[in-house]
Parts: sequence; structure tokens; C-alpha cells
Amino acid sequence: MIDTLVLGAGAAGLFCGARAGELGQRVLVVDHARKPAEKVRISGGGRCNFTNIETGPNNFVSQNPHFAKSALARYSPWDFCDRVAKAGLTWHEKTLGQLFCDQRSGAIIDMLVGDLKAAGGEMRLETQIGEVEHRDGLFHVATSGGPLKARTLVVATGGLSIPKMGASGLAYDIARKFGHDIVPTRPALVPFTFTGAFKDAFSELSGVSCMVDAKAGSGPDFHEAMLFTHRGLSGPAMLQASTYWHESEPVEIDLAPGTTLMDELAEDRKAHPKQAFSTWLSGRFPARLGQYISGWPGMPSGKQLAQLSKAEMDAVATALKHWKPVPAGTEGYRTAEVTAGGIDTDGLSSKTMESKLVPGLYFIGECVDVTGWLGGYNFQWAWASADACARAIADR
Ligand SMILES: Cc1cc2nc3c(=O)[nH]c(=O)nc-3n(C[C@H](O)[C@H](O)[C@H](O)COP(=O)(O)OP(=O)(O)OC[C@H]3O[C@@H](n4cnc5c(N)ncnc54)[C@H](O)[C@@H]3O)c2cc1C
Repeated sequence: MIDTLVLGAGAAGLFCGARAGELGQRVLVVDHARKPAEKVRISGGGRCNFTNIETGPNNFVSQNPHFAKSALARYSPWDFCDRVAKAGLTWHEKTLGQLFCDQRSGAIIDMLVGDLKAAGGEMRLETQIGEVEHRDGLFHVATSGGPLKARTLVVATGGLSIPKMGASGLAYDIARKFGHDIVPTRPALVPFTFTGAFKDAFSELSGVSCMVDAKAGSGPDFHEAMLFTHRGLSGPAMLQASTYWHESEPVEIDLAPGTTLMDELAEDRKAHPKQAFSTWLSGRFPARLGQYISGWPGMPSGKQLAQLSKAEMDAVATALKHWKPVPAGTEGYRTAEVTAGGIDTDGLSSKTMESKLVPGLYFIGECVDVTGWLGGYNFQWAWASADACARAIADR
């Protein structure tokens, strides 16, 4: 008989299986997909942004902002780097602490699967999971490959993002069945969509990008690139803001981050008094974006810089630094990198990821209501929550 059954051969499930195996558990990992860890494969544009060296609890969104602290503190980005280095893999920091594999992402999957097997663990793919029950101190799981039972059950089947890749709500169903609450889920790290005049304008601007400070809801300002698309706004700044966004709210965009714009305008007015304001816009911003802005209501577009009053310059600076378009929605789970919300952390131990309601039942990775920013934080949560769980299982 196996000791630990792990549902989901993704980042968290494979890593937990390997760690628990190393700590003496007989582990079986099952997954309905044809290949393990497909999201690792496509992550980071094929180079897997596997962690972020700046990781801290503030880089995560959860109803309980303290929940992730313990696991993150006990398994650091450098712990995972050590593991990656031992596997002979190398990495580089791209930006903002984001570590990417020098090799293809498949090398990380090979490492995870290799570690699981080296630790005596087994992996079964293309296995459908049916009813999950807990009786006589054991978990009984019906599968397309026959019934399985184990003393410990780890649920690591991820969130709802990208159903085409096998994402399902299984973790939430199992959690609900055993009495857990689910924090309402929503697509996160996802582009915004717009309708009407915004959609028409953004479609014209498709392909234009610029650095902005962007913020939504209670989130911080993200200083990253924004990209206009045929359907709306994307790029890292928008993906980050999307995690904090709620329907019918605006996204607050500073199109001229790091400057008040007033000083710039005043200097340029002195240096080029005869320059048309619309020409100035097209030089200050990507040309197509400048043309678009010059058509905004209230822009003194017919004037030369010398003709601008202080009040007009103020109004320009305010409009550009506090642009507040209201998205119609997001691209949804079809393209969202993660699912925000999930299994309510109130029902889980932050030290072990064990259910407070059913001993021996654990939830790890993306299915838990802990959502990282863009930039390697979500994998770091997968590794850290998996490690916390594996250590606890070994101590049971
Ligand atoms: C395009 C894209 C790029 C990304 N890039 C990055 C990145 O560079 N860095 C980063 O930190 N994060 C990135 N992420 C997010 C990251 O992939 C996830 O946060 C992470 O994979 C979550 O790990 P997990 O093990 O919890 O879930 P998953 O990796 O999603 O694994 C869940 C597993 O469970 C299986 N499963 C689901 N339902 C069932 C079921 N009903 N029966 C059986 N098995 C089931 C799935 O097949 C899957 O193998 C990216 C996500 C996407 C979509």
C-alpha cells in the first residue's frame, strides 16, 4: 500500500511527491493529463521563471495575507535554486528578481519527475479521478485505473486557468465535500478587454507598448510595460493589476511614470515654443499613442506649446498621470496565468497545509487562496507549500 496519494502531477504535486519520498514516504502521484506539469513547460515563454529572489509575503494576494508567511520563510527561493543547481541546470536573472532557466522548461519537469522516481515514488498519468472518501482513517479514491487508498491525501490539482490544458475545479470540489469554504475564484494575471470606443482605439494601437505605473483596487502601483492589443490592454503591468481588479472598477494608469510632467512641459515650452502640442505628444510617447491622446476631450491639441496656460498644462498632466479606463472584463480563464481565490486558508494549517477539518488531507499550490504576482512567485508558492506539506506528512 502507498502512504501518500498526491492528486495532480503539476509543479506542486511533483515536488511534494519527491520531497515526501525523500523523507521516507511511499508516494503515488496521479494526473488525468497525458504529460506531467504542462504549465511548467509553457511557463516563462518556455524558459520557466521558476522563482523570484525577492519573494516575500507581500507579493501574494489572499484573504489572509499572513497565511503564506510560514511556508515561504521555511523554503526560500535559494533552496529551490540549490536543487536546480544539483540537477546541473543554470539560470539567469531577467528583471526584478525573476530567475529563468538557461535550459528549456522541460529540464525542470525532467528534474521534478526524476527526483520523484529517485525517491521511490510512482507517477500515473491519463488517470481520471472519481469519488474521494475518507473512512477508517484512510482516503479511498476511485480512479479510471481502479480504486486507490492511502493514509494521506495531497490535493495539488491547481486552479481553473487554461481549461484546454486540463485545468479543472477538482480541488475545490474535494475541499467543499470535506466542509471547506472556497473564496470566490476569478481569473488573474490576465489581459483586460474593452468595448466601444476604447476597443476601437486600442485595436488601432495594437502592438504599441510603453512603461506605466498601473494599479487596480487595493493593489500597489506596478511599474512595468503596458501593451495595447486588438481587444484591450495587456503586458506585465496590466496582468499584475488584473489580480486586484474587480468588475466595473477602473484601472489607474500613469502614462508618464517617474515625472510630474509639468517640469517637462515647462522646459519644452521654453525650448520649442512654436511646437504644436500634438507634435510634442507624438514625440513624448510612442507616435501612435501620442496621436490617440491628442484626440482626448480637453487636450489643447490645436495649440502651440507657448500658448498653453498653466491650467491647461495642469489638466494635461492630470489626464496623463491619472488615466482611468474601465475595462469591460478580462480574457478570462482561457488565458489567465493563475486563478485568484480558492480554498479558504482559514480551514488550513499555515505551517503544514493540512486541513483543520480532516486529518491527513492536504491542499497545496494554486488551488489554495494564495495568488502570487507575475514573475516566478507562483512557482515559489508551489515549491514552498509542497515542501511544508511533505515535511508534515513525514512527521505524521
Ligand atoms: C501560460 C502560463 C505561464 C506561466 N508562467 C509562470 C512562470 O513563469 N512563473 C511562475 O511562477 N508561474 C507561472 N505560471 C503559473 C504557474 O504555472 C502555476 O501557478 C503553477 O503551475 C501552479 O502549480 P500547481 O501544481 O498548483 O498546479 P498545476 O501546475 O496547474 O498542476 C495541476 C495538475 O493537476 C492536474 N489536474 C487538474 N485537474 C485534474 C483532475 N480533475 N484529475 C486529475 N488531474 C487533474 C493537471 O493536469 C495538472 O497537471 C504560468 C501559468 C501559465 C498558464
